[in-house]
Amino acid sequence: MDLNNLKSDPIVVVGGGFGGMATLQALLAKSDGTSVILIDEGNRFLFKPLLYELLSGELQLWEVAPQYSDLASELGFIFLQERIVEIDELAQKLITSSEIEIKYSQLVISTGVVTDYSYLENLQYFACGFSNLNDFRIIKKLIATINNSSEFANPIVIAGAGPTGVELACKISDLLQDRVEIFLVEKGDRILPNCKSFNREKAIDAIGKRKIRVYLEHYIKSVDKTFLELSSNDNETNNFIKIDYSTLLWTAGLKPSKSKFVHHFSNENQKIKVNEFLQMDEYQNIFFVGDITFYEKAPFPSSAQVAMQQGSLVAQNIISLRKGNELKPFKFEDLGEMLSLGIGNASITGYGITLAGPLAFQIRRFAYLTRMPGFLLSFKSSGSWLFSKKIINRLFPQSP
Ligand SMILES: Cc1cc2nc3c(=O)[nH]c(=O)nc-3n(C[C@H](O)[C@H](O)[C@H](O)COP(=O)(O)OP(=O)(O)OC[C@H]3O[C@@H](n4cnc5c(N)ncnc54)[C@H](O)[C@@H]3O)c2cc1C
Repeated sequence: MDLNNLKSDPIVVVGGGFGGMATLQALLAKSDGTSVILIDEGNRFLFKPLLYELLSGELQLWEVAPQYSDLASELGFIFLQERIVEIDELAQKLITSSEIEIKYSQLVISTGVVTDYSYLENLQYFACGFSNLNDFRIIKKLIATINNSSEFANPIVIAGAGPTGVELACKISDLLQDRVEIFLVEKGDRILPNCKSFNREKAIDAIGKRKIRVYLEHYIKSVDKTFLELSSNDNETNNFIKIDYSTLLWTAGLKPSKSKFVHHFSNENQKIKVNEFLQMDEYQNIFFVGDITFYEKAPFPSSAQVAMQQGSLVAQNIISLRKGNELKPFKFEDLGEMLSLGIGNASITGYGITLAGPLAFQIRRFAYLTRMPGFLLSFKSSGSWLFSKKIINRLFPQSP
């Protein structure tokens, strides 16, 4: 593809996660003929909320992580697999790690966050996060190794009892059929502190039914190759618990990616402070979307839901900017929350329902599928794991 032969400077989206893909789809739906380019360092969009089902084999890679090249030909954008390393906003151009220069008319940055291993010395050598396909492969292999071994395995320790820690603990516990104890360590005084109370109660039930031991008001003080030390928040007791562990999974912190390109707009490890239109005041034709953003006046959660809503608004604002119309401010609409709680089990609050169990699992899967970019194509090809007729009849009694 010759980027120099485009009729005009394209709109460029860097980062094809939830925020980037939502922006792209909304831009393409209202296209004025300007080329839209997606640049991502990876070759697959990753539907992160379904990573647990990928781990358990309830879903396959092609269902959870379609290739950008397929999405590009289906939706009509240009895809470039490159890592952006620099930006020259005066010349309105980006520079990639292979030294390609790409000019833009408007730019959207949606490069997300990565696991933050800076909390403890050497943590990056001993712990694994759960936020990308690489992490998924490591954990999948670990589960296979434990299941294929007749030897006793030390506990798996999961740091952080937010949604990722809790959902991962339940899924791994089911996959190992309680052969290994799981320790879930949380600094706060309860699991899922920011989740809806119904979902939290269902998660407590799910944990109670499995071989998962929860340490509330504890944190990991130090880690070595084979053991780690847990400490209670109450410093006065000076009470450490030494654990010989087999694996440490770190779900206790995320930070913007280390790229110099992102830190051009923020300080190291900090999110990008945006205005209500999802810009920085000094750069009118650059927009920021998703987990890398921070809105000081009314902070919104870091979630796929927020990223997608931001993406739609940014597309609208780019079109307004190009037409000389006024921009609209971002307002987050909380549609609800869904948790995966082990094989075939989930809990939902919102989307007009409060439900837990196998039906909630099916609804969660269906609801996420409909949010997959290129949904219609996926719908045709993945009908096999969609609703059974019985479930459709129960949900939509009026439907044929
Ligand atoms: C296991 C898990 C489960 C989750 N479950 C839920 C859930 O149930 N509900 C919910 O709302 N949210 C959930 N989330 C959170 C949600 O996935 C994130 O909030 C969402 O992905 C943020 O979207 P984003 O576009 O900001 O970033 P991402 O989706 O992370 O995408 C960022 C993209 O940028 C690319 N990139 C980064 N740096 C560069 C660079 N320099 N050059 C080129 N490309 C680059 C990356 O390759 C990536 O594709 C979950 C997250 C995880 C990890």
